[in-house]
Amino acid sequence: MSTQQAPVERADFDRVMVPNYAPAAFVPVRGMGSRVWDQSGRELIDFAGGIAVNALGHCHPALVQALTEQAQKLWHVSNVFTNEPALRLADKLIKASFAERVFFSNSGAEANEAALKLARKVAHDDFGPQKHEIISTVNSFHGRTVFTVNVGGQPKYSEGFGPRPEGITHVPYNDIAAMEKAISSRTCAVILEPIQGESGVLPADLAYLQRVRELCEQHQALLIFDEVQTGMGRTGKLFAYEHYGVEPDILTIAKSLGGGFPVSAMLTLERYAKHFSVGTHGTTFGGNPLACAVGGAVIDIINTPTVLQGVLERGEILTQRLQQLGEKYGVFQQVRGKGLLIGAVLSEAWQGKAAQFLAAAEKENLLVLMAGPEVVRFAPSLIIEPTEIEEGLQRFERAVQKITENDETNK
Ligand SMILES: *Cc1c(COP(=O)(O)O)cnc(C)c1O
Repeated sequence: MSTQQAPVERADFDRVMVPNYAPAAFVPVRGMGSRVWDQSGRELIDFAGGIAVNALGHCHPALVQALTEQAQKLWHVSNVFTNEPALRLADKLIKASFAERVFFSNSGAEANEAALKLARKVAHDDFGPQKHEIISTVNSFHGRTVFTVNVGGQPKYSEGFGPRPEGITHVPYNDIAAMEKAISSRTCAVILEPIQGESGVLPADLAYLQRVRELCEQHQALLIFDEVQTGMGRTGKLFAYEHYGVEPDILTIAKSLGGGFPVSAMLTLERYAKHFSVGTHGTTFGGNPLACAVGGAVIDIINTPTVLQGVLERGEILTQRLQQLGEKYGVFQQVRGKGLLIGAVLSEAWQGKAAQFLAAAEKENLLVLMAGPEVVRFAPSLIIEPTEIEEGLQRFERAVQKITENDETNK
């Protein structure tokens, strides 16, 4: 059934695409489990997971089945109608979390946009327009829409796009005193990543999240956890907040939820959800049957003791081995994170050179990520085979060896 397609190559990117990305020199064409093949047939091991998205690797048979079965039945109806896969997935998410209500969207930014709008609406309805301030943290990442990028705490992403939305404050992460000082009766929400992902895989302190939870109660502000990156088993619990025993009022998830199919969700309690009455918010594609059918298969597989325990075990191995490697070659000062969201923080001598590690790994046929210029990030499939972890680590060691050998030329 395959139709003849025009040949394309990496060079075409510069001709046809908006230049906001700088993709690698090769073009992946196929993936299976934790391996990816490019146009030339070269095989790479995937420790990047499409930026913490391919939680069950590439083309997992159960996901392919869920997607193709749904593809034969019903693709899209819009939210003028509900659909079976969306209702089933929402029910599974509720049963597995603190939440009582679900809103589906298509990306992390959109789930956060919904969360922030909901928090503002709740405060507006219950307390009036003066209660609209949002507190976020320095270096946080919440997406790229104009609103979410301004809530995020990285000015390099939010500068140059005209007037900023008002009522957003940024405080240093893990700084209790700063949060105590910033929060007030005007605060409608505090938004936090339990582990700051994009800016360096930096976990929150337990005492910090506990205190922020208390402060939100005191000031009748909603606590939003952005688990777009940490959610859906990535850290060895279904949601990272479970490690802390601190529950949010609103939770956002996306990346791993569809295992590669775009879908996101905002989860909350009934008493807040009711403020999004008919017509107050919406999206054409959110809760799409194809996306939710895949999401349902993803959660069925991930939310099992075997898989979650497996994430912790794999994370332990990977972390230990990276620590050893860091010591042997003097490249890392710390390896941090939880489960299979791991950040190797470059040592003094290698500051700002994470991109070199990515390039060197790719030459050894291994995909890894960065999380800012100081951190090499690892976010492989949650069910990556232990033998593939081993093989990937060997490739990574070869990359590190080469980088450190060429030390002089690289510096
Ligand atoms: C990736 C990410 C987002 C943005 O998700 P998109 O799907 O790119 O919009 C938001 N928050 C966190 C914590 C993320 O890691």
